[in-house]
Amino acid sequence: MKRGLIIVISGPAGSGKGTVVKALREKMPTLGISVSATTRNPRPGEVEGVHYFFITKEEFERRIASGEILEHTYYCDNYYGTPKSELERITAEGKDIIFEIEVNGAIQVKKLFPEAVAIMLLPPSAKLLESRLRGRGTETEEVIKQRLRRARDELKLLHHYDYLVVNGENMVDDCVELIKDIITSEHSRTSRMTDFAEKFFEDNN
Ligand code: 5GP
Repeated sequence: MKRGLIIVISGPAGSGKGTVVKALREKMPTLGISVSATTRNPRPGEVEGVHYFFITKEEFERRIASGEILEHTYYCDNYYGTPKSELERITAEGKDIIFEIEVNGAIQVKKLFPEAVAIMLLPPSAKLLESRLRGRGTETEEVIKQRLRRARDELKLLHHYDYLVVNGENMVDDCVELIKDIITSEHSRTSRMTDFAEKFFEDNN
């Protein structure tokens, strides 16, 4: 079976990444969304096995040691990582897979799978990023500051990404359309169409 695309979507806290990925999932129901493991506490409304697999630090470290984690990072005092089983589960179905992960994870995925498509989502300005983060009201001031510092560092690594999508105010639908177009175009890359090219003259032989 032809393997689907590996798509990485990153964006600092407040970029609207969660909302965009949720809407993308509704528009493209055949996309497989990888569920990460994390040691952070669930936020209100987050469901085990849907938003994350919530595990302890000890269990996370055990899984790293046993090779069960494809990539991981230590982000704002917690571990986050992609279980290998998620990649296996989704690719076995021949689906495109989305990893919603931060920059260090994206770089690791690109190293493992150079053909992966990496998309960075950003709001139009740092000011808007901050006000979205505060508006969310789920984090303490210290965590907000930490996440803003982190956003600044993440931007320095933008060159590891293939696409930058700007998520302006009330632009979720436009962002989703753009990401859909990126995915569609990436499927037509000549490097992904080698099977087609090889079989093209087969009936004429
Ligand atoms: P949050 O705590 O807001 O859910 O996530 C914090 C950051 O961790 C986000 O940038 C999110 O994309 C990233 N993240 C979530 N899961 C993973 C993962 O499996 N690996 C990596 N490297 N980052 C992740």
